Amino acid sequence: MASEDPVHHLCILGSTGSIGRQTLEVIRLFPERFRVHVLAAGSNAELLIAQAKAFWPEVVVIRDEVRVPEVRRELAGTGIQVYGGEKALAEVATFPEVDMVVAAVVGFAGLLPVMEAVRAGKRVALANKETLVVGGALIRQEMERSGAELIPVDSEHSAIFQCLVGEQIDDVEQLILTASGGPFRTRPLETFSAITPEEALCHPNWSMGAKITIDSATMMNKGLEVIEAYWLFGMKPERIQVLIHPQSIIHSMVAFMDGSVKAQLGVPDMRVPIQYALTYPERWPAEHPRIDWQTLRKLEFEEPDPRRFPSLRLAYEALAQGGLAPAVLNAANEEAVFRFLQRQIGFMDIPRLVEEVLAETPQQTTFSLSDVQHVDAWARKRVRELSGIPAD
Ligand code: NAD
Ligand code: MG
Repeated sequence: MASEDPVHHLCILGSTGSIGRQTLEVIRLFPERFRVHVLAAGSNAELLIAQAKAFWPEVVVIRDEVRVPEVRRELAGTGIQVYGGEKALAEVATFPEVDMVVAAVVGFAGLLPVMEAVRAGKRVALANKETLVVGGALIRQEMERSGAELIPVDSEHSAIFQCLVGEQIDDVEQLILTASGGPFRTRPLETFSAITPEEALCHPNWSMGAKITIDSATMMNKGLEVIEAYWLFGMKPERIQVLIHPQSIIHSMVAFMDGSVKAQLGVPDMRVPIQYALTYPERWPAEHPRIDWQTLRKLEFEEPDPRRFPSLRLAYEALAQGGLAPAVLNAANEEAVFRFLQRQIGFMDIPRLVEEVLAETPQQTTFSLSDVQHVDAWARKRVRELSGIPAD
């Protein structure tokens, strides 16, 4: 990133989602400091058009190609170029005028664009954790070659990243990822099979996209975050601990070898970690909500219950297995979550199917991007087969 240029030149992938919209809220606070060159989305043409008219990027991309004519028509005469499709999404992440790519696409779809951004040596503000889960090894390799940087947006990883400023990674004893425990932390376990999508979509502390909200309810989200932390900070799995903290005020902690522990605190509001990723290593003034110490009474902690949240164990197992196992875990989970939201399977079928497909993971220690893509498609197909869902 050209440090003498006070303006940050951005490409936002997934601009219409929860993280994408909050990223634009932050950008709006500093109009002199940010220039949006690219906005890219999956299929929400209406919002993408409105965002384009508010931020005047040079290029917009809509992955869903049938929406391209509508976006072109609405943006005709503006000079904004409109592209469609998966390939365009990856190409815009490498534009020379862009110095920072915000990766806020959800799921496996983020892998190719993030890979391209990393290859092109960009600074990547990473919200899309699935990318590191499935392709962590490949991304790390490319980063070493290109000098690209990954700055975490995920609140836990942003917290750890902030706690590590000025520290040596070798002095770290443990990373402690906090988790809210989601909506079912205290719900009677025998009623879990009756959980509906509506119930699972009600998160107590955070307002997020549907996929990550379901992942928070199963705690697969925390499992994915353990793998994300492994790749971001190079920490051994046994040194990454998960602790339930229902208030979501402590966003995560780092324990050092001298017994000292650093924590990062704040009101649960994604705009704070998003802004830190955009301005790092600087901090810029903003009126995001402050902790109210008059009303904050307690910070509680508890161990996650393995019977309630088997997904967490599955993620540790996939990480220990290595190879393609994390990619299988992720793909099976994405497919199962999608099917749960479609009411085709029950809530407890999500971890059950992930476990069954994970057990069938092809044994392979070295792999390429195309191996990851193949195993992703295979794992999704296996979830459909095992749950009796006909091929689309
Ligand atoms: P979301 O569903 O609200 O938004 C997803 C965005 O990606 C949308 O802009 C959508 O158009 C786009 N998209 C979806 N499928 C696509 C595809 N196939 N190709 C291209 N674009 C596609 O999701 P979100 O909650 O904003 O989450 C985005 C990512 O950030 C996820 O990986 C999530 O785990 C991570 N994250 C989110 C939060 C949060 O508070 N929402 C917190 C931490 C991490
Ligand atoms: Mg998180």
